[in-house]
Amino acid sequence: MRFDIATLFPEFIETALNESIIGRARARGLFEAHCHNIRDYTLDKHRRVDDTPYSERQGMLMQAQPIYDCWKAVCGERKPHVIYMSPQGRTLTQKRVRELAQMEDIFILCGHYEGVDQRVLDRIVDEEVSIGDYVVSGGELPALVLIDSIVRILDGVLSQPDCYEDESHWGGLLEYPQYTRPEVWEGEAVPPVLLSGHHANILQWRREQQLYNTLKKRPELLESAELSEKDLYILNKLKDET
Ligand code: SAM
Repeated sequence: MRFDIATLFPEFIETALNESIIGRARARGLFEAHCHNIRDYTLDKHRRVDDTPYSERQGMLMQAQPIYDCWKAVCGERKPHVIYMSPQGRTLTQKRVRELAQMEDIFILCGHYEGVDQRVLDRIVDEEVSIGDYVVSGGELPALVLIDSIVRILDGVLSQPDCYEDESHWGGLLEYPQYTRPEVWEGEAVPPVLLSGHHANILQWRREQQLYNTLKKRPELLESAELSEKDLYILNKLKDET
């Protein structure tokens, strides 16, 4: 899978993409990422890429020309899926991450300042993606969130599919609580079932805890989660108990 990222801060993205799990996956060639400095494509002799908005708003807007020329030069004959990181986009979900992970070629545009001239967005963007209903200063952190969430579910990046399939949001529920050594910490013991070695009981405990956690923290997720008859029975019991 290949990502091209158009940004005013390529070093920022490069640094983050070379760290930890994602950095190791990149070094092993499990995905490719190429950062492009939009400023390299401006025709302005002072290398400017922004100007004041016509709406009489304060602040600066990124101009269409450098972004369009960057996109054209990077893509050539290729037709990547073009994503603009934007607080106006559809909020990223694990479901959308899974869909995007099937794509081979993604071009990500990071905005800055007050945003980007609408005309170039209309011309090149296939999809706007938001990381949540709040505004950050630039598209770089959102782009990194998007890339990380996709890369960690690519084949071979994590040791086993369980690592992400058991996690919150994969199946529509939150994860169950997790414990590690020591067995007793400050008088608090690990739930005995986890030490029992009884696989079926552990699986049942995990499912019940997932349902409980979701009911407690994010009950609205239960409306769209895939739930079996048994899950519904457990949920009703949990609701009665709480
Ligand atoms: N004026 C814009 C608006 O109200 O929609 C916000 C501009 S924001 C300060 C600058 C850039 O940060 C945006 O162009 C976008 O690329 C990025 N950005 C900010 N918040 C974001 C979010 N929640 N999700 C994705 N990208 C975001």
